[in-house]
Amino acid sequence: MQWIDMRSDTVTQPTQAMRHAMAHAVVGDDVYGDDPTVVELEALAARLLGKEAALFVPTGNFGNQLAIFTHCQRGNEVILGDDCHIVWHETGGAAVIGGVQLRTIASDKGVMDPQEIEARIRVGQDVHWPKTGLICLENAHSNGRVIPLDIMQRTADIARRHGVPVHLDGARVFNAATYLGCDVQDITRHADTVMCCLSKGLAAPVGSILAGSADFIARARYNRKLLGGGWRQAGVLAAPGLLALTEMVPRLPEDHANARYLAEQLAGMPCIEVDIADVHINMVWFRLLADIDISELMAALSAAGIKANPPEGGRMRLVTHWQVSREAIDQGLEVFQRVLSD
Ligand SMILES: *Cc1c(COP(=O)(O)O)cnc(C)c1O
Repeated sequence: MQWIDMRSDTVTQPTQAMRHAMAHAVVGDDVYGDDPTVVELEALAARLLGKEAALFVPTGNFGNQLAIFTHCQRGNEVILGDDCHIVWHETGGAAVIGGVQLRTIASDKGVMDPQEIEARIRVGQDVHWPKTGLICLENAHSNGRVIPLDIMQRTADIARRHGVPVHLDGARVFNAATYLGCDVQDITRHADTVMCCLSKGLAAPVGSILAGSADFIARARYNRKLLGGGWRQAGVLAAPGLLALTEMVPRLPEDHANARYLAEQLAGMPCIEVDIADVHINMVWFRLLADIDISELMAALSAAGIKANPPEGGRMRLVTHWQVSREAIDQGLEVFQRVLSD
């Protein structure tokens, strides 16, 4: 059976063009700097993200942790949102790899108040103080919302005033730019370094990018090797990454339009509550009101060929991507309609 998988955009499979590019990639030993496809990917990513240099890394998690490790000294403090990916979903790596302390700030659906950040920056000489080594932002947030540019700008201004670097967890930064209708550089200019995923909505099978100044990326390349991430004929993986940036970024509006359509249709059904205003990218969150039989709903979705994660704490998430067509969404909506009208 051909499943329609709406659990996440991490489930995307490489396109036919990507599989072809992988099979025919020109490769070399990347530890020697000899893999032309990796070199091309890093150059293109740096140019698109508006940074001097970029480094191809295996995952977003790796890119974020490498950024923290490279920016900070052991014992530094990193200021970031209490609901961000680095805090929630990276297995405490910042403590193990970077040896840093995470100083979390309450976020309002992913948005941190710049004044709250400034109040926590510690760069003085007090003998008790850990020094603030880094501020991390996340855009788009993994809750599917996009952080406004003026919030990023104000945070960046504060960080620069105190001499603290900013790292952007931009796993879905191209989705954020798509939502804002801006160039991705209008987002990345507010950060010294940025990580973005080539997998997820951009459909590459493996890989993320860490971009920043030439000096930072040289140090990150050394640290990537230290962490065991010096890879050899990685052009096989960089080749689909190039297509992620050139062919998949321009089609993101389709995923966003499909998510919005899904949200609007669900909002019209009884027993479903959707925060339409929170649908920014390819994710739709909604609440199922109490009297729905969840196991019946999940079984009906499965029988219709749709993979979805069951609701957590009463909230359910569906995600669109290149392998979820408008027809597939209609197929899913039909299941909701049927189960809810029973
Ligand atoms: C997915 C994600 C990551 C990690 O990316 P992986 O490639 O899964 O390691 C980091 N940050 C955010 C916001 C994400 O959504």
